[in-house]
Amino acid sequence: MNQSSAPFRATGTASTPTIQRVETLLVDLPTIRPHKLSVATMNGQTLMLVKIHCSDGITGIGEGTTIGGLAYGGESPESMKVNIDTYFAPAMRDQDATQVQALMARIGKMVKENRFAKSAVETALLDAQGKRLGLPVSELLGGRRRDSLPVAWTLASGDIARDIAEAEEMLARRRHRIFKLKIGAKEIREDIAHVAAIKATLGDRAAVRVDVNMAWSEQDAAFGMAALADAGCELVEQPVASAAALARLMRRFPLALMADESLTSPESAFEIARVQGADVFAIKIEQNGGLFNAQRTAAIADAAGIGLYGGTMLEGGVGTIASAHLFATFANLQWGTELFGPLLLTEEILSAPLDYKDFALTVPAGPGLGIALDDDRVAFFARDGLNRRPAS
Ligand SMILES: [Mg+2]
Repeated sequence: MNQSSAPFRATGTASTPTIQRVETLLVDLPTIRPHKLSVATMNGQTLMLVKIHCSDGITGIGEGTTIGGLAYGGESPESMKVNIDTYFAPAMRDQDATQVQALMARIGKMVKENRFAKSAVETALLDAQGKRLGLPVSELLGGRRRDSLPVAWTLASGDIARDIAEAEEMLARRRHRIFKLKIGAKEIREDIAHVAAIKATLGDRAAVRVDVNMAWSEQDAAFGMAALADAGCELVEQPVASAAALARLMRRFPLALMADESLTSPESAFEIARVQGADVFAIKIEQNGGLFNAQRTAAIADAAGIGLYGGTMLEGGVGTIASAHLFATFANLQWGTELFGPLLLTEEILSAPLDYKDFALTVPAGPGLGIALDDDRVAFFARDGLNRRPAS
């Protein structure tokens, strides 16, 4: 049998690393302050961590999160854990751990939807494969084009004075100079006054953007976008839910329009590009169902002349760094990223904290994700976990 006609070998031999065990756990971490969105107020974040143990002794880690439990979409950290334990793990056991795309396709045939859970599992497979080959995940995805990523900060305390104080502190510490305001929960004029007051104080020292998380009607958005442009806001994210309404709002106001919740797959991205429904795409690995799909969505944006922004599902360190490896490969990243999730948490669960400096996040250079969990601290914060103090 020659090489080209050899069938793909899904089940490994002694020389092929296979998947032995898929472990999941929920980790509950407090946030530094309430994080107010139009869909939910978060006082903590739950990380669903997945560890994929392979026959060659390598373990890959991945992470799934949501925003406000089920307030953002159809998956929760709890549903991810149950579905991975019950449906993903049996489909993965004894399979070739080195064929990441083929294994994700196999899972896809047995598991519909569950995009966030798929992203967590794909992250862990890529981390393991990177460690195996001695390459960062960014290299497995085609090669990085940058070693650090600009990071926006979200001002979401709901209080103008507190938001301004927070922005001033971030500027002074050289941590962020792009600020995103979460609006849409209050009366529209009150929200716009809030944005205008912050932009007036920060002036040219910082960029101000808003995220409405679909809270406005199309009429609200037409009024709101004109007023936001007047206030000096440079971008509005997902003001309305429907792609058709986004398309009707395009190019009517001198600020950029970004799609976020509307982007759930490369197919949805193609549809928004087709109707010219956005100036910018927020790319999220979880929303797309993994890093490879997020890469496809980014390619559609490039082909359509749509700008790119690296989004967050308020992931902790693992999901944030998985996203960072992907965003580091993008040809265009005109609007930077919002990979600040770990900074919203009061507790560190990585063995070394991520490197945020000079308004940017450093993309790790080590094999796989290039990060490691602090297992004692993970155990301490794990739901139903051991009730003991962390070592440090
Ligand atoms: Mg958003």
